Amino acid sequence: MLTMVNPIFFFCGEGQTMKNLKINAKRIEQQITKLAEFGKTPEGGVHRVAYSEEDVQAREYITTLMKATGLAVQIDAAGNILGRLEGSENSLPPIMFGSHIDTVPHGGKYDGAVGVLSAIECVRVLMENKIQTRHPLEVIVFTDEEGGLVGSRAMNGTLSSEALKEKSHSGKTVREGIWVLGGDPDNLDSVKRQKGDIRAFLEIHIEQGRILEMKDIDIGVVEGIVGIAWWDVTIKGYANHAGTTPMNMRQDALMAAAQLILAVNRIVTGVEGSQVGTVGRINAEPGAPNVIPGKVVMSLELRDLSADKIQSLYKKIEEEAAIISQKTGTEITFDPIDAMAIPAPTDPAIRRHIADSVEELGLTAHFMPSGAGHDAQDMAKIAPTGMIFIPSVGGVSHSPEEFSRMSDIVNGANVLLKTILKIDQQR
Ligand SMILES: [Zn+2]
Repeated sequence: MLTMVNPIFFFCGEGQTMKNLKINAKRIEQQITKLAEFGKTPEGGVHRVAYSEEDVQAREYITTLMKATGLAVQIDAAGNILGRLEGSENSLPPIMFGSHIDTVPHGGKYDGAVGVLSAIECVRVLMENKIQTRHPLEVIVFTDEEGGLVGSRAMNGTLSSEALKEKSHSGKTVREGIWVLGGDPDNLDSVKRQKGDIRAFLEIHIEQGRILEMKDIDIGVVEGIVGIAWWDVTIKGYANHAGTTPMNMRQDALMAAAQLILAVNRIVTGVEGSQVGTVGRINAEPGAPNVIPGKVVMSLELRDLSADKIQSLYKKIEEEAAIISQKTGTEITFDPIDAMAIPAPTDPAIRRHIADSVEELGLTAHFMPSGAGHDAQDMAKIAPTGMIFIPSVGGVSHSPEEFSRMSDIVNGANVLLKTILKIDQQR
């Protein structure tokens, strides 16, 4: 069904105009610099935690920018900022794209900001060229990404009332924070979208790792956001005098832990793929130089795009733990921690659109998982989702030293623009 449309607009797909569409590098650079003023730190980074005064001011700046671009702006009940541009066929579900502008404490200028400003720039370029897409377009700035994906969880219906009670870095609870942003935490149901409500969700983000830089690749086509599984591992031995207990008569829990940590690394690196496994926290008791450690509690974390792979690695680690336990006279138990994230694969057709766009722009692409969490993982549960990574210099992120080159940001934004148009044109 074709509805009435402003006659000055070209329909998407008409003529040569489309092929020559390009992001305005100067404009996007100025906006990144301007946005970094809100919460600027002496170290050259940005401290703009969700719900803070800086966050509120930055959101005002973004809202003004969106309106100047021609977007109709609304704040939803979760505090998400939504800027909408009507399409020529408004019965179609919207193509949504964006990211977040809150940062971790003492973070950088690029995490999230690149995604939001690229999204607005894409709309600006379409408007300047008088191109109207078939689908409505929605630019989104998600609420409190760094504090726990608040805006995107509200959208897929998994933001619990417990999560609203949590204290954020701003000192306010999430509930109080949502009020401050102009949302209504008592009306979160209105934010929920069902499968089919959104044609596609797209997000550009800095990689936050070094893979693209090391491989000298322009664009990462994200295959999905990895699942995360955590356990507390408890090792019980026997605490005894370090001077009087002979070496062959010990039940040293820390010795067992050391072997298990090495085994985790061996098992995780022993199979093909980009899975990762980490023991990041360890505590030995009683923790005295002259006492054999009687108890160790340590963490185990596994991440991969496949839940089956995580399970099979975990099984191997458990089997190895049984052997270590027997050798060392200790008892090893694994307790799953309720912080699991299930893997969120991106949409294969959208991945293809992104890769084709990269090729048409004469750039290089690499298919890769995202090891970090993003709003895209929540959106993938309700909409076909695609994610575009650009290189992070030195792989540094969540730090004032976080840096991405302007040329890479512009490449990413151009890929986003082409991808939006490809999705729009697909019948
Ligand atoms: Zn981010």
